[in-house]
Amino acid sequence: MPYIVMHGNIFVREDNNEIHTESDLYDKEIIVMQDDNAHEYALNMNISDKLILAKTYSEAFKLLSSGKHDAVLARSLVGIELINKLNLKNIKVVSQLDNDGIYRTKTKLSGFEQKFCFAVKEGDKELLAKLNEGLAIVSANGRYNELYEKWFPFLINTEPTIAEIITYLTKILIPLILLMLFVFVIFVKREVKRKTIELKRANDELLAAKEEAENANKAKSRFLANMSHELRTPLNAILGYSQVMQRDQTLSKENITNLKTINRCGDHLLSLINDVLKISKIESDKVYLNIITFDFLELMLDIKRMFELIARAKNLSFNFQGLEDIPRYVQGDATKLKVVLINLIGNAIKFTENGGIVVRFSVVKDMPDSFLLHVAVEDTGIGIPPNEIDKLFKFFSQTYSGSLGKEGTGLGLAISQKFIAKMGGEIKISSQIAKGSSFSFEIILKEGSQKTIDGKERVKHVIGLKSRHKPCILVAEDNYESKRLLVRLLENAQMEVICAENGIEAVEQFKIFNPDFIWMDIRMPVMDGLEATRQIKETDNGKKTIIVALSAHVFNEERESILNAGCDEILAKPFLQEDIFSIMAKYLNLEYLYADYADVDAVLSIDEISGEEIQKISKDKTKALLEAVLLLDSEEILKVIDDIELEYANVSKKLRKQAIRMNYSEILRILEGEEEYDS
Ligand code: ADP
Repeated sequence: MPYIVMHGNIFVREDNNEIHTESDLYDKEIIVMQDDNAHEYALNMNISDKLILAKTYSEAFKLLSSGKHDAVLARSLVGIELINKLNLKNIKVVSQLDNDGIYRTKTKLSGFEQKFCFAVKEGDKELLAKLNEGLAIVSANGRYNELYEKWFPFLINTEPTIAEIITYLTKILIPLILLMLFVFVIFVKREVKRKTIELKRANDELLAAKEEAENANKAKSRFLANMSHELRTPLNAILGYSQVMQRDQTLSKENITNLKTINRCGDHLLSLINDVLKISKIESDKVYLNIITFDFLELMLDIKRMFELIARAKNLSFNFQGLEDIPRYVQGDATKLKVVLINLIGNAIKFTENGGIVVRFSVVKDMPDSFLLHVAVEDTGIGIPPNEIDKLFKFFSQTYSGSLGKEGTGLGLAISQKFIAKMGGEIKISSQIAKGSSFSFEIILKEGSQKTIDGKERVKHVIGLKSRHKPCILVAEDNYESKRLLVRLLENAQMEVICAENGIEAVEQFKIFNPDFIWMDIRMPVMDGLEATRQIKETDNGKKTIIVALSAHVFNEERESILNAGCDEILAKPFLQEDIFSIMAKYLNLEYLYADYADVDAVLSIDEISGEEIQKISKDKTKALLEAVLLLDSEEILKVIDDIELEYANVSKKLRKQAIRMNYSEILRILEGEEEYDS
């Protein structure tokens, strides 16, 4: 048995497309090697009538490669060896597609084949058997094919051509691809459906989460409103009583000082509560502008007065520039503007040790009836590192140096930025470390007229009424301290006061006494102020009676329900005495009598202290007073004024009035003989 059979093949030039099988050779010029098997085969098979005889196969292939004759017949092993050796690029073996149409096989010349066999000595059956067994094993386990492929790779079927690949693809792959596409489309459709369901579920979950968050936010608002009520009500009493008690002439100086401390601390606490409430309002998007007509110059001078003394105590210059260019009466949210400026100026002073602060005002753009106001608060302080500027407007955020100081909560700038944003502007910062900072903003304000000023008469310490008619006032309030404070204020002003501790009592008292005016606390046991107001306003007399709600609730939703219940106005707790009296004056057309030192304008004109008067005081006393004022030591200030009284009673009386009102800057001005700032 031969273990390898090598067939003869037909070799042609690459461009030959005519010869595919043995039968195509007949009329062609065929080269064979003289006396070789191929020669013998060609003659036997009468393969062509144009046989060309070459001496060697090299000659035969060179002739074919140079374009002469049509084909060479040779064993594939020999032919391929020579083609490679002579580097003849333009010669190929003739091949055909197999039955499957996938692979090509070399066209074999049947009858022109060479067989290779193992031969053993005659009679050596054992070796013969072993060789046969070995060959059987290697062909059975595939080793034979492996070896064949390794040693005769060029004899193995040739690769398909591109054209054949394309044909193959069109026949099999394209239907296959179409089928896959179809399956893929079905799969995609299913996936889309599945994803849509998933998305819808996620969306539903998101909606539920949003609703939950909104509910939580509402709960937070309610909690803050309740807390504010709980905190503000007692604070109301603390602040009110300490104010009332300061009027007690019999109090010792020490107790007056103590009272002032209570008042200052209470004020601080109130401003903290207010800050937290402002944030909660900002967070729940409940910041509304309260536009009024106000005296811009007066507001700015008020703010300036607040800080003058502190700036002077730190030896800092402190100036307002350009105020004369701003229209005096304007419409805007004065309260929010004040909050912002107090914060910016307060910070500027807090973070400046040398140099000073200047607040610049200018009108950037004039429009019909309105103008664009530019305000810049500039300081020569510690400055802010560039990488910390962005976070300053976040709640509770302070710079590293800012956090070193004990004061401050990191809320002021965040609140200010939100307020200015509400007014349509933006606070911008430019700052250089150790050189200073500038905080500026631009907002549009409308021009107003003096007539429309919403300002209130600066009422203080009402001691009676100018008219003979004494109005009857019902105070409905369950909190003992708040009620007592209000009752005392009203009784001091010579009014008739009746009280109720809950809604039901309020309605009963109203029916009996038919009061002119009702201060109605909203939160009361048994029946709340809203229900009591509703019931009172349902009656004929009630419709004519003014009811003003007292509420620690600051949120707009509550405001709406209070006004809907029939209240004429709302006064937030803790209230100022001035507000109590000015609201009653507005509705009941009242005019008040004031304590002689209460009317501010009167105080200023009466208390004018001349330089000559000051010069009459001995130098050591004026020096002691100056030092006490610079140290803001209120106790010491009053002590020195008492000493002065022994020498010169008239001046000391005037000084005491300023001191009691904490007008320390005024005392300083008098002592230093400076001119009042003229802007
Ligand atoms: P607070 O002053 O209560 O800490 P603010 O929000 O008003 O809160 O200010 C936040 C921080 O911004 C301050 O703590 C301080 O670090 C920094 N800052 C504000 N104004 C100035 C300024 N004029 N100069 C330097 N740093 C400032």
